Amino acid sequence: MKFTQPILPYAPDALSPIISPMTIEYHYGKHEKAYIDNLNRLIEGTQYADMPLERIIIESDGPLFNNASQAWNHIFYFFQFQPQGQKAPGGKLMAQIEKQFGSFEEFQKKMEEAGTSVFGSGWVWLANNIEGELEIIKASNAENPLTRGLNPILVFDVWEHAYYLDYQNRRPEYLKKLWNIIDWSVIESRYPF
Ligand code: MN
Repeated sequence: MKFTQPILPYAPDALSPIISPMTIEYHYGKHEKAYIDNLNRLIEGTQYADMPLERIIIESDGPLFNNASQAWNHIFYFFQFQPQGQKAPGGKLMAQIEKQFGSFEEFQKKMEEAGTSVFGSGWVWLANNIEGELEIIKASNAENPLTRGLNPILVFDVWEHAYYLDYQNRRPEYLKKLWNIIDWSVIESRYPF
């Protein structure tokens, strides 16, 4: 299966000033494109050639895992944004957040703290287990909760390439501002309860 890079569902300047058009151009246009190109090159003529991307992530390691997971992670990251989107969770997801974290604000604080404390390059994920319980996961490099049997529903990219053009070394500020462009209707649709 040859993977293609999906077109973003918003204009390159739609997330500005939280994520600038230049960051979209480099982060999505160049970094994400490179992961997908590498993935296609690495699977060609191998046992992975016809696998769905999620299965490649679970079954591979080394450079193939890194590129497959990064290809998936970035699509997941960029497709959760919409400046006019739903600003907070509702329904069962909100009930679960309040049950486990006390409040939406407390949950946001925990995500920001986790993202700030990832050492080096990585991600901070919100994922659920089979019972619907939520977990905040600090991940290094390309790590993805799919490999732990968890279902990812929200992610913040904390690689420097995600924020350096817009925030330089101010990762906590970048994390705090991301809440303004998360579309919670997308996150709710990823939570199967
Ligand atoms: Mn990235």
